[in-house]
Amino acid sequence: MQDCIFCKIINKEIPAQIIYENDFVLAFKDISPVAPQHYLLIPKKHFVSLATVDAQYSQEILMAIQSMTQELQINDFRTVFNTGAAAGQTVFHVHAHIIAGRDLNWPPG
Ligand code: 5GP
Ligand code: ZN
Repeated sequence: MQDCIFCKIINKEIPAQIIYENDFVLAFKDISPVAPQHYLLIPKKHFVSLATVDAQYSQEILMAIQSMTQELQINDFRTVFNTGAAAGQTVFHVHAHIIAGRDLNWPPG
């Protein structure tokens, strides 16, 4: 999608610190981390949010989170999909936040 910042990262039009990649997904460091480890994992196909992602990519995203955290030896982590502006979504290409490296509070803000 033309004006989507995450599609631009997929197309290598803007740089990102990529930490995991396969045919379906890409994971990279969040530009504004909220924890020592803060990654974003996105499908290589544009979906606006978790509300519209299809079954195949839902599976690919979750399985890639397993693979990625295993590779990085991250045992304890939080996965967040902000869905909709009121829930904090600012980039409208579905993405999983993977947050780790410190104790995390619950409930979130
Ligand atoms: P959201 O608020 O939509 O759930 O999360 C969007 C995330 O994308 C934010 O944590 C923000 O820091 C990150 N982000 C926004 N623009 C860029 C960028 O150009 N590069 C990277 N690596 N992260 C970005
Ligand atoms: Zn996109």
